[in-house]
Amino acid sequence: MTMKVVVVGAGIVGASTAYHLARAGCAVTVVDRADAGRATAAGAGIICPWGSAIEDVASYGLLAGGARYYPEFVAMLEEDGEPNVGYAAVGGLYVPSEPRELDAVERRVRARARTWPVGQVERLSAAQARALFPPLHAEQPALYVSGGARVDGRRLALALQRACVRHRARFEPGSAELIVHNHRAVGVRVAGQAIEAEIVVVAAGAWAPAVLEPTGVRLAVAPQRGQILHLRQPGMDTAGWPVLMPLNSYYLLAFEDSRVVVGATRETGSGFDYRMTAAGVAEVLNAGLKVAPGLASWTLEEIRIGFRPIALDDRPKLGPVPGIDNLIIGNGLGPSGLTMGPYCGSLLAQAALGKAIDLARFAVVEHA
Ligand SMILES: Cc1cc2nc3c(=O)[nH]c(=O)nc-3n(C[C@H](O)[C@H](O)[C@H](O)COP(=O)(O)OP(=O)(O)OC[C@H]3O[C@@H](n4cnc5c(N)ncnc54)[C@H](O)[C@@H]3O)c2cc1C
Repeated sequence: MTMKVVVVGAGIVGASTAYHLARAGCAVTVVDRADAGRATAAGAGIICPWGSAIEDVASYGLLAGGARYYPEFVAMLEEDGEPNVGYAAVGGLYVPSEPRELDAVERRVRARARTWPVGQVERLSAAQARALFPPLHAEQPALYVSGGARVDGRRLALALQRACVRHRARFEPGSAELIVHNHRAVGVRVAGQAIEAEIVVVAAGAWAPAVLEPTGVRLAVAPQRGQILHLRQPGMDTAGWPVLMPLNSYYLLAFEDSRVVVGATRETGSGFDYRMTAAGVAEVLNAGLKVAPGLASWTLEEIRIGFRPIALDDRPKLGPVPGIDNLIIGNGLGPSGLTMGPYCGSLLAQAALGKAIDLARFAVVEHA
């Protein structure tokens, strides 16, 4: 018998989970409310965890596992008729302002290269680095890592939706409320209509605590606003430029259409205040232009705003909910959800299918 699954949320986590489940033959319905500030539509798209300062082994495994999974995932989507999701293995440049930070990041990257697909690692002079990313500061040396990549979150989420539909999944726009009977999730209600399911996956990003509230489950996740800027210089061939990581909370990356994205604010405690602010825009522009002053004359084309679902203990929240049967959560991917999302979706799909998969390190929830 075909298993019926409802997925709440069509961001990267929900869309990837739905895709893996639909591919496995489940009857999947995805409900999405398209909230302003959904993170996947605003995310920058850097996939380069090799120099990350994260030390927690389980969390790093998820992050690096996410980056490693991308080529396989993108190939699967291509097989399903989606050849262009804005993914490219463009490589990464670490460009810290303090030269001695290059030594520290090089040690981390080289250690990880023993286990993960870090690729080629090389110190570059300022001139070599600038040849790869022309607007870069003229005196900025760098560490190059060939295994860095980027993806367009918006394009990827839409491609996943289409691929899901090809595998007979259904998309239902609207706001979902959980239906729980006798400590068992049995479906959701959308605009007064019940949609029944054997498994409900809640992948509702920063809004998930509200979805779970009526069940008494407290998900320790909060929104963190990010303001992110898109600059353009028509005619500039930016397609192959590497991602730039200054090793503070800012970064730059390029896409095919003569575009450079500069991110981002990290506004803890922002709530769902969907606004761009004078200070936020100034902060990101100043940080970006310090690293890449050659962008000063580019057009500031767009400002996006997203709410990262931040886990209060910094650990992703993945898997079943103790005390409520047939309910699975995918959340808390914070600033790295575009990196981890596809892989987490595959893990959540396996959990939904009842496969033995150990997600204990990412256990979800406290009851109120
Ligand atoms: C500025 C910025 C830059 C970032 N840069 C990067 C980066 O470079 N690399 C990286 O790896 N990650 C990055 N991220 C993080 C990444 O974007 C997020 O971690 C990821 O997109 C979270 O995905 P999600 O599916 O959990 O949530 P979301 O994408 O927010 O999706 C949740 C969805 O659930 C829907 N929903 C909520 N409640 C309901 C309901 N009751 N009924 C129906 N639908 C509902 C919402 O409308 C929404 O569509 C960045 C994020 C931001 C904001």
